[in-house]
Amino acid sequence: MKKLGFGLMRLPLINDNDPSSIDFDKVFEMVDIFMKNGFNYFDTAHTYLKGNSEKAFRKALVDRYPRDSYIIADKLPIFNLTNSSQMQDIFDEQLERCGVDYFDYYMLHNVSTKHMKKFTDIDSFGFVRKKKREGKVKHIGISCHDSPEFLDRILNEHPEIEFVQLQINYLDWTDNNIRARDCYEVACKHDLPVIIMEPLKGGTLVDVPSTVKDMFNNYDEHDSVVSWAIRFNLSLDNVFMMLSGMKSVEDINENISIVDNFKPIDEVEKSILNKAVDIINDTIEIKCTSCNYCIDVCPQNINIPKYFDLYNKQKLLNHENSYSMYYNNYVSYSNHASPDKCIKCKQCMEVCPQNINIPNNLEKVVKTFDN
Ligand code: SF4
Ligand code: SF4
Repeated sequence: MKKLGFGLMRLPLINDNDPSSIDFDKVFEMVDIFMKNGFNYFDTAHTYLKGNSEKAFRKALVDRYPRDSYIIADKLPIFNLTNSSQMQDIFDEQLERCGVDYFDYYMLHNVSTKHMKKFTDIDSFGFVRKKKREGKVKHIGISCHDSPEFLDRILNEHPEIEFVQLQINYLDWTDNNIRARDCYEVACKHDLPVIIMEPLKGGTLVDVPSTVKDMFNNYDEHDSVVSWAIRFNLSLDNVFMMLSGMKSVEDINENISIVDNFKPIDEVEKSILNKAVDIINDTIEIKCTSCNYCIDVCPQNINIPKYFDLYNKQKLLNHENSYSMYYNNYVSYSNHASPDKCIKCKQCMEVCPQNINIPNNLEKVVKTFDN
């Protein structure tokens, strides 16, 4: 199997404020290029694009390709559940939305210390084991953003787990909060294959500072910024799939070309990447990956990642307030509330895989732009 998976979390939208406004002309074209080049792994989740990701998968794949030509991975949103009967209802809804009668890969979504009691009380591991026995799921796994110690504990307690989906990229590899390397090593210790998510850290490793671009370019002018990130990930031994949230035909073509012409990262390149990590870390203040999980739970309907993105961009500029116009326009014309409407309920922090103190950082956003 080719190791590039199509992540359906950030599909192209016609209207950025409306997750149902998927640009199907673009999506069909992207899927067709992907399939034509021998790639066939697709990753979705119940929560992505408020359910529209699963529906888009059906329209783009199920309605247009035979079932045995693609592989679908989906996830049970354990962080949203309060009782065990909801699992069957959600699973049935997922099959219906996706238009399939089984999933090739099925994960407990974001297994974490924060939700431990929830997913233990409703016996979500028992549920996915049952689905596997029924033939509704071929392989069961977990996605996890927690500590390596927690991951180790879960894998010790649940030997039925067949694979692990982890956040891995060269920036998070030695990050003290994400600890990607340690998590990867735990998966290896348990002899489990790894699916990589966030290989470009939500786009952060595409828009790298110019000093990093120059450093890459000076070493090899033919290798793109994205290629450095993808090659780092695919150089890891235990990786059986790397998801990429491709949003355009250009993204698809670039990703395919890098994977098809793959050359592993060598020792010199690793030391260049280490320098890049120091430079990038000095420039990003809020390490948000734009996964959008927080928006769904925010009672004030604040587009948190949008404001964090504008804030990070603003902080990168040497002159003042260049992003103020974008900020003011967004506050005035979007369907989302402005960041000063935050009531500090902290519901967003319950679901943030990056453990960001969202209310505190929203205050920083307000201070920056209101000045
Ligand atoms: S703390 Fe603020 S941003 Fe977070 S969910 Fe509550 S209102 Fe929304
Ligand atoms: S703040 Fe956290 S949950 Fe919200 S988009 Fe960023 S990383 Fe995702």
